Amino acid sequence: MSIYCLLNSDKYRVEFQKFYNPILLVDVKKYQMKCEMNNSFLFFIENPRINIDLVSGFFEFYFRIRPQDFTLGQVMSKTLITYNTSRKNNPHEFMPCVLFTSGMYLQEILVYLPYQTFAFHRELVYHFVPRIDNQCSVCLEEKQCINVHDNVFNHCVCPTCLLRIEPKCPVCRLAIH
Ligand SMILES: [Zn+2]
Ligand SMILES: [Zn+2]
Repeated sequence: MSIYCLLNSDKYRVEFQKFYNPILLVDVKKYQMKCEMNNSFLFFIENPRINIDLVSGFFEFYFRIRPQDFTLGQVMSKTLITYNTSRKNNPHEFMPCVLFTSGMYLQEILVYLPYQTFAFHRELVYHFVPRIDNQCSVCLEEKQCINVHDNVFNHCVCPTCLLRIEPKCPVCRLAIH
């Protein structure tokens, strides 16, 4: 898998192993990415996971005084994570990421990704669906619910209950997508 990086006007393609944990630490020491006093750094990873289309990050940073060769530095920013769903407008969210420097060179890129669990996948699917005030047909509480078929019959389930039931509507037993 590759990360495409642009440091000022220099392009790099960093190779790394496929990963499954939520923290991705990419060692870029061997690419000798040399910073200037003022920098812009951009990176992106295409399709790192089945449900993620794109992870991209943008940093602007500068050194106030020229760092010594082994002076360590950290630059914080956020990555934009774009998910891949059946919906037209792909949902996205921001996660933290950090650049580590030593002297004028980039050393590592640390990217936090969301946990990948089965519940997370479902949660993600429902995360971006609009909520309406209604009675949940499982817990019977009046709260923010999801209209599971998205039609006029308003079969509503609250997000908490929705993650606990099988993907069938508790009212009419039709499948929930
Ligand atoms: Zn409920
Ligand atoms: Zn239903």
